[in-house]
Amino acid sequence: MRAPTDDELRELAAKQAALGELRGTPAADPVNAPMIRHWLAAMGDRNPAYLERGLAPPAMAQVWTMPGLSTAPKDPSPVDDLMAALDAAGYTGVVATNCEQTYHRYARVGEHLTPATRFTDLAGPKRTALGVGFFATWTVTWYADDGDPVAGMLFRVLKFRPREKEPARTPYPLRPAVNQDTAFFWEGARRGELRVQSCADCGLLRHPPGPLCPQCRSANRSYAVASGRGTLYSYVVHHHPPVPGRETPFVVGVVELPEGVRIVGNVVDCPIEEVEVGMPVRVTYRPMDDELVLPMWTPEEP
Ligand code: ZN
Repeated sequence: MRAPTDDELRELAAKQAALGELRGTPAADPVNAPMIRHWLAAMGDRNPAYLERGLAPPAMAQVWTMPGLSTAPKDPSPVDDLMAALDAAGYTGVVATNCEQTYHRYARVGEHLTPATRFTDLAGPKRTALGVGFFATWTVTWYADDGDPVAGMLFRVLKFRPREKEPARTPYPLRPAVNQDTAFFWEGARRGELRVQSCADCGLLRHPPGPLCPQCRSANRSYAVASGRGTLYSYVVHHHPPVPGRETPFVVGVVELPEGVRIVGNVVDCPIEEVEVGMPVRVTYRPMDDELVLPMWTPEEP
């Protein structure tokens, strides 16, 4: 597709909006008690009224018509062509900015819901923190068999042109997921410390890091610095498939620390045929690029 101009994008948006509301495929299954029971359990909602009276929680509206992993052809939607045109124009980034649901009445067990999509608005180009982009807005309404609207949803996304990135420094391609639960671990690795998360209330050590203590349910976290010694509890030799940035074969081990937790890491500086369960190992820190240091394990001389 030739890159459309901003004016052409606005023309296409006006055309899509003029299509009005397009009905999609009815839900594969009627509103049903097992799905409602699952939802209530997942949400921790103990209100017995839903199942007793055969009513679906309103926030389930989208559940009934989600296509899931189905390979069936998608419904024609007034949104898809516009999204493709925005991509072709270079607005390839996408971030959801608004999702507002409106509930008209309860959907009842046995009813089949049908979604209908209406493209409403394209606004832009606007300068945002992410880059220049367009805000695209559409609504989905779910109708029951009797034609009643049951629920509606307004959805708005920002399609933006990603900013040019700084020249890459060939970073190691496999990045760990660093978040507020795990940042201390990776910071430790950069400083040459093997940090193990601990509960700030009962002191229990745990690895991998997580938000809650499995023993006392406290969310207060700290960490201890492990000795860096351990024994190889188990391992595999990875031959295939190829791993970006690594040469195969390599050893992935599970190391048991005397502190009481187990940690996954590569076993290095040891011929593969000499790796064995129970061998004493100690941690070694390997810089993978300017930012990432991975703790690995090497045989400990007796
Ligand atoms: Zn605890």
